[in-house]
Amino acid sequence: MTRALLSAVVLVAVILAGGRSANAVSPHSFESRGAPRTTHRWLLGRSEQGRPIVALRVGDSQGIRVLVVGCIHGNEGAGIAVVRALERRRTRFDLWLVPNLNPDGFVRGTRQNGRGVDLNANWSSQWRGGGRPWDTYYPGPYPFSERETRIGRDLILRVRPRVTIWFHQHMNLVWAWGPSTAAGRIYARAAGMRFYHHHWLRGTATNWQNHHLPNSASFTVELPAGSLALQQVRRQVHAVLTLAAALHGRAHA
Ligand SMILES: [Zn+2]
Repeated sequence: MTRALLSAVVLVAVILAGGRSANAVSPHSFESRGAPRTTHRWLLGRSEQGRPIVALRVGDSQGIRVLVVGCIHGNEGAGIAVVRALERRRTRFDLWLVPNLNPDGFVRGTRQNGRGVDLNANWSSQWRGGGRPWDTYYPGPYPFSERETRIGRDLILRVRPRVTIWFHQHMNLVWAWGPSTAAGRIYARAAGMRFYHHHWLRGTATNWQNHHLPNSASFTVELPAGSLALQQVRRQVHAVLTLAAALHGRAHA
């Protein structure tokens, strides 16, 4: 095989491997305006009512892998602005960004998804049934009964983030427990927020990741009520990047 042919084959193999490892449904890549870094965008799947749920990957694929979910409760969408700001950052970390895991609830202005299920009670760890659709904490008929939670689970299992950050509202604190405690404390300090050390609730995404990816962290950032001022968005972005830098330092210590 000639050298040129060999490199062509290797290139194709790399492209195929890249596509498969991310299990992309519909990969697009584009250069963002003026910035020399590439953003990849994936359609992960669709909500119960057919709305697209996407992930964006920015930064350096060799860096510390951080997943940030801007919204899971549809009436708690302030974190979407943080994710949008992270999209525009040039960073040496490997950032996976899901602006909105609950687009149906977001459009309706409800905590639950389009079927009345609390998506942060629908994960399998310590899941407990009961109640009816549109109850505040209705966990669904069985664990992972909802498309949105399955999309979130599958993404985490594929990406295997070092840390996952879930934005909620309106408690204005950082909530972490168990193996995620250290990461939560670092984030809270960097964001200037109160740290709340308390066990996970049943069926939550953080609870599930702590059980299924024990060498990773997953915690909740409860933003204040309302939408964030630019300064507050910047502070959250700073906290995400500060935590990633701390984890990077540990990995290379
Ligand atoms: Zn919430």
